[in-house]
Amino acid sequence: MLRAAVLAVIACSVLAAAKPAVQQVGPGLYAYISDNDASANSTFLIGRTGVLVVDTGLNAAEGMKLLSAIRQVSPLPVKFIINTHYHPDHQGGNAVVGQGAVVITTDFTRDRTLALMQNPEMKGSQFRPADVTFQKQITVHLDPYSVEVYFPGKAHTSGDALVYFPEQRVLATGDLFLNRSSPAMDNGSAANWIQALDHALQVPLEHVVPGHFELGSKADLQRFRDYLSDLFQQVRIMRQRGETLDQVRRNIHMGKYADFRQFPKYQATFADNAAVIYEQLQAH
Ligand SMILES: [Zn+2]
Repeated sequence: MLRAAVLAVIACSVLAAAKPAVQQVGPGLYAYISDNDASANSTFLIGRTGVLVVDTGLNAAEGMKLLSAIRQVSPLPVKFIINTHYHPDHQGGNAVVGQGAVVITTDFTRDRTLALMQNPEMKGSQFRPADVTFQKQITVHLDPYSVEVYFPGKAHTSGDALVYFPEQRVLATGDLFLNRSSPAMDNGSAANWIQALDHALQVPLEHVVPGHFELGSKADLQRFRDYLSDLFQQVRIMRQRGETLDQVRRNIHMGKYADFRQFPKYQATFADNAAVIYEQLQAH
């Protein structure tokens, strides 16, 4: 369970490649694309009297980079932070980005965050566990905008949140979507993950801010969903034929997705994803 968290700490030593890219994606709304693969992307919304931020990066240094990007656009206080899930690369900058902000997550994310804070390896992270949690959904009103935050069921973890900006037609996905990349899979559900993406694809979308890598379009989100679904079907059929986990890892055909990034060190490859799906199917 802690695998991804520990890996994120190891990944902390990965050096930044370029400068974070900030792009306006709608009225008052900005995508912050991290220049460090080990630290998540963020999204921030500038309202009349304050700022709402989705995810805050891996640690104090990444949080500072994000905060200075926000300050290029607005001097207003950060009023709300939404963490899409508990992995440190999405919430390790909370205390730096918004010491006085109201932090909002699912109940599960808060529980896991409190557990992480007991871990001595997490010392450098600036955690702030949630002040407000929700079970299914919550709407945050940041005058003149409203932001819809909802739990789509187990997916990348057991308690992810998706954040939809209806006026801007933008979705911030956390790690439910990585642009052209195989994702790490924590204790979630690939089957429900695919359904959650199907649901997300039904709303108007001008842009999709992924958990990592470049800003996405609706077509990019669709392609990622198709990758998960193709892989799921292949693994299901092979397992029904009685193939072993090793055979499944070897025999999947992912040529259509040859451009997808593979990260063996995060257990985020086609074969790793296939293995997780296989194990989830075994458990049912
Ligand atoms: Zn994650």
